[in-house]
Amino acid sequence: MIDRPISDIAYNQFLQEEKLMGSKCEQCGTVYVPPRPICIECRKSDMQWIEMKGKGKLAAFTSISIGPSFMIEEGYNRKNPYCVGVIELDEGPRVDARIENVDASKPDDIKVGTPMTVKFLHRGEGIDKKTYLAFEPL
Ligand SMILES: [Zn+2]
Repeated sequence: MIDRPISDIAYNQFLQEEKLMGSKCEQCGTVYVPPRPICIECRKSDMQWIEMKGKGKLAAFTSISIGPSFMIEEGYNRKNPYCVGVIELDEGPRVDARIENVDASKPDDIKVGTPMTVKFLHRGEGIDKKTYLAFEPL
């Protein structure tokens, strides 16, 4: 059992530790990623942490050529777009993530249903340190 309250803060701490964690309802078994403290299916708050294996399939994606400033700082722009998407995890839940190691300038070559594996992107230093969830083709 993991002794951390179920919260976005703890979820992000786990990402820094390269763990993709969700919460599982002990009553009905529904799994949430990012974790929820209360089950929206049965309204119970009997939740436990559960670690995802980090495998799934690409369910949807989009190429972004004009992103937020922190993406522009990473060198992404109209000529060098990046890809974000939704991954359907093997455990069931769907999670938003950056999609790495695909050619975002050729979205026709990126296929929904592609098997994907998790990748943790560590950015920044000190208090600005943040880990982003990403997936890449297996
Ligand atoms: Zn439930």
